[in-house]
Amino acid sequence: MKPVIALVGRPNVGKSTLFNRLTKTRDAIVADFAGLTRDRHYGNGKHGKHEFIVIDTGGFEPDAGSGIFKEMAKQTRQAVAEADVVVFVVDARAGLSAQDHDIGNYLRKLGKPCLVIANKAEGMKAGAQLSEFFELGLGEVYPVSAAHGQGMRSLIELALDASHLEEPEDDPEAADPSIIKLAVAGRPNVGKSTLINTWLGEERLVAFDMPGTTRDAISVPFERNGQKFELVDTAGLRRKGKVFEAIEKFSVVKTLQAIESASVVLLLIDAEQGVTDQDAHIAGYILESGRAVVVAVNKWDAVDEYQRELVKRSLETRLGFLKFASLHLISAKKRQGLGPVWDAIAQAHKAANCKMPTPVLTRLLLEAVQFQTPKKTGAYRPKLRYAHQGGMNPPIIVVHGNSLEHVTEAYKRFLEGRFRKEFNLVGTPLRIEMKSSA
Ligand code: GDP
Ligand code: GDP
Repeated sequence: MKPVIALVGRPNVGKSTLFNRLTKTRDAIVADFAGLTRDRHYGNGKHGKHEFIVIDTGGFEPDAGSGIFKEMAKQTRQAVAEADVVVFVVDARAGLSAQDHDIGNYLRKLGKPCLVIANKAEGMKAGAQLSEFFELGLGEVYPVSAAHGQGMRSLIELALDASHLEEPEDDPEAADPSIIKLAVAGRPNVGKSTLINTWLGEERLVAFDMPGTTRDAISVPFERNGQKFELVDTAGLRRKGKVFEAIEKFSVVKTLQAIESASVVLLLIDAEQGVTDQDAHIAGYILESGRAVVVAVNKWDAVDEYQRELVKRSLETRLGFLKFASLHLISAKKRQGLGPVWDAIAQAHKAANCKMPTPVLTRLLLEAVQFQTPKKTGAYRPKLRYAHQGGMNPPIIVVHGNSLEHVTEAYKRFLEGRFRKEFNLVGTPLRIEMKSSA
């Protein structure tokens, strides 16, 4: 499990700036997709081999009375509750405020690992100016500048140390690659537990014993048509004996962690609601995580033709960035359309682990260039020379050549389409990286 870091502090201290710094590596990948909501408050960060989840919270007033501030306070409390470590951001230039005191008191009582970060400290002399923040009673105060990227590395290292989580194994995926780890993701009430119970009730599914799983663990190993699956912990569900039931509380962090620990994610959408903001957020996170994905619209039995059209349109406008995934219109309750979902899950898993030989990739690349040469920008015309596979799950194709920084996004997508077609990459993201030789 990745450690979870929550950024907390009053408005304007630089939390979103810090959030963008900590999550920047992944942001670049998804920045380009239309329909992907930008106002995300959850992001992935990476430092060396360490990965973590960052939560940005709104401005926090622990005693906020009503309205939007109360709602923000509630969300902040939830974020803090789910975090392994809290990064309390204060403004080194503005100095200590009454609001900082309130937040400090709140955090002190919680007894969670907590770091005080004095932001906007660029060009400031260490020491004197920060000493007032010791009054918060939360220990050491660390100067950083989110805007200038100063102190980020030690901030991350301190936060990871404070989270008390163990070093990641070198290869956590190494367990058993033939078992598909499946996460069923979706908002409350989309029908996750109904679907899972329907599935587990089918006699074609044979539960098998896997060392280390207890009866009450949410992780359930089973087999279907000779393929082994493991249902990984799904947010918002609890196992009660043989069946799953929904619990009220929805946790974004748990959803993210379930996605992270899966090899394939089944994203459920509710046909009665169409694609909501929260669906788009979850989808954006799946894309970012690089997981293989299958999309299913549930409760198809419950909606009329008109609503069906609306749903289809919302899929196009809001989930356009998941076009590579196969789409299924199902009813978990009436057991309609479920067989093909299994096939799609197996197919997505296979695609995510596809092996692409260098000669084939290079031939495809050169054929693509012959079909359509990349545009010249200024004095440069990119020269694409050869390609090899740089990784699996998700597959990465590394293209080598010259002036490749001038290859447009549109052209990359054109290449992606050709590669996808050749290797039948349905259900997996595909990353294309350009490596220019000097
Ligand atoms: P939030 O409300 O806590 O999320 O704060 P923002 O990230 O929106 O930042 C508030 C303001 O502080 C913006 O104008 C930022 O440009 C500025 N800011 C953020 N980080 C720094 C920093 O390290 N140094 C300085 N001088 N300004 C910063
Ligand atoms: P969860 O919170 O995602 O686990 O959702 P549940 O499985 O608890 O389902 C929420 C509600 O939707 C329940 O009342 C289900 O009976 C209903 N539901 C689930 N699947 C379907 C379906 O395929 N069609 C219809 N009409 N209702 C469904």
